[in-house]
Amino acid sequence: MSAPSAGAGAKPRRRAPESELALKRRARRIYKALSEQYPYAVPELDFRNAFELVVATVLSAQTTDVRVNEVTPALFARYPDARRLAEADEAALQELIRPTGFFRTKAQNLRALATRIVDEYDGEVPARLEDLVTLAGVGRKTANVVLANAFGIPGISVDTHFARLARRFGWTEASDPVRIEAEVARLFEPRDWTMLSHRVIFHGRRVCHARKPACGVCAVAQWCPSYGEGEVDPAKSSKLLKYELAPGREDLLARMLAGQSRAELRAAGFKLDA
Ligand code: SF4
Repeated sequence: MSAPSAGAGAKPRRRAPESELALKRRARRIYKALSEQYPYAVPELDFRNAFELVVATVLSAQTTDVRVNEVTPALFARYPDARRLAEADEAALQELIRPTGFFRTKAQNLRALATRIVDEYDGEVPARLEDLVTLAGVGRKTANVVLANAFGIPGISVDTHFARLARRFGWTEASDPVRIEAEVARLFEPRDWTMLSHRVIFHGRRVCHARKPACGVCAVAQWCPSYGEGEVDPAKSSKLLKYELAPGREDLLARMLAGQSRAELRAAGFKLDA
């Protein structure tokens, strides 16, 4: 789908008042386009079970998933479950997670979280939101990530990307994550909540960046009231696209790149055969 024509530096569109029904329809069109663009969207943190996901998500605060994925193999080899992590030596744990930043606080939280899982939940990560949020370092966003991806319970995960895009899409005007979650949830069927979260976050990471959204190559431009907030020239927009993925995710990268035109890939710095 091509973006609507407009000159570079176009002003964001003004939005006419929209009925609840029109908003819902427009929201679902955006979701359909994102589903076509990112059919493969997945959580980018590596994990094999609920324990690993909750730990990885706590570590992901204030850093990238790529960085977390670099430290978790050694971390989980040494502490494969909550019991082992609860008994971890603080200094050794800090050293392992140091690259993720805020490592002292994170180490403290991880040991406290693991201790509570052992003491209160018999060593198993609980599958209820009200229990998960009692764990150290686990807020509502992390709890929803764990419920959705480790237990298959639909949930909307409002991280910084999701919050920004939901506002740009005109799905909400709220800045409080709990309100954003509630206002977006009413626009979609619960069965779509989890994949909606992944796809919106993918789009935020790759196209609709905080500072320089690439409006000129955006798949949802025609339904986005914020079109024009970023670069609208397609060639210049292509240069803003990001493709960073964790090492070992070459399959995902290949599928992502398959969705881009050769011109866009060249503009983004990829060397292609003639
Ligand atoms: S890149 Fe531009 S058009 Fe696309 S979602 Fe973001 S603000 Fe809207």
